[in-house]
Amino acid sequence: MLKGKTALVTGSTSGIGLGIAKALARQGANIVLNGFGDIEGPKAEVQALGVKVAYHGADMSKPAEIEDMMKFAAAQFGRVDILVNNAGIQHVARIEDFPPEKWDAVIAINLSSAFHASRLALPAMKAANWGRIINLASVHGLVGSPEKSAYVAAKHGLVGLTKVTALESATTGVTCNAICPGWVLTPLVQKQVDAKAAAQGWSNEEATKQLLSEKEPSMQFTTPEELGELALFLCSPAANNVRGVAWNMDGGWAAQ
Ligand code: NAD
Repeated sequence: MLKGKTALVTGSTSGIGLGIAKALARQGANIVLNGFGDIEGPKAEVQALGVKVAYHGADMSKPAEIEDMMKFAAAQFGRVDILVNNAGIQHVARIEDFPPEKWDAVIAINLSSAFHASRLALPAMKAANWGRIINLASVHGLVGSPEKSAYVAAKHGLVGLTKVTALESATTGVTCNAICPGWVLTPLVQKQVDAKAAAQGWSNEEATKQLLSEKEPSMQFTTPEELGELALFLCSPAANNVRGVAWNMDGGWAAQ
């Protein structure tokens, strides 16, 4: 389905981003990976799916590095057809205790980076009259939770950016949509399970159960593989007229 297309997935060395990169690669898309930590492992996993893979280590909090990454992707593969704005971080603290530099980092990585990558990807997508921008928001783009001010603000902002991007591309073959997961058991969430376990003296299992039962009626994590399938649908011809939606995959979280 995606043979000959190029997908750039930010924050794809881990978790959801890697899951989506692999789903797109399985359908034949060449992949530009980005993110920190182990690079060779994720690269090999995607390469094993028989597509071309490139990596750029842009720090998504830095606009100049994002510009460099977009130029690199175009030089490698001609252009970016599918942009998945996925890189994200979390910081948990009440507003009065929230370190201002953490606020700035969460907004830069979870929101502003999507603006920068999108503004740089859109001209070539519009010229080709085909493109997909998928923004990894969160159920926290739709509802709030205490102690997550920067994250909730960034994700609500990302849902807003998704709508404007979709409207400005509405008469073209370029679509923009957001995916809003509930809990997905990635390193980002494991840190929150660990903090709960440490604070309450709970086992990992007890802390995990408590985390799910507070918010997610299904009591199940969404998986990166399931999110990959949703991303594939948004890239398919069936989704040509799906524009500006914020699609939650959250075990019923936002239905409450
Ligand atoms: P993760 O921690 O497993 O992966 C985050 C990725 O972003 C990694 O590849 C990391 O290296 C990269 N990254 C972090 N800071 C970066 C920076 N400054 N520049 C470039 N890359 C950077 O997290 P995840 O759970 O897979 O989260 C992916 C996205 O999904 C995030 O936007 C997150 O907010 C969102 N999300 C996650 C959940 C969840 O439950 N895990 C739920 C809803 C939304």
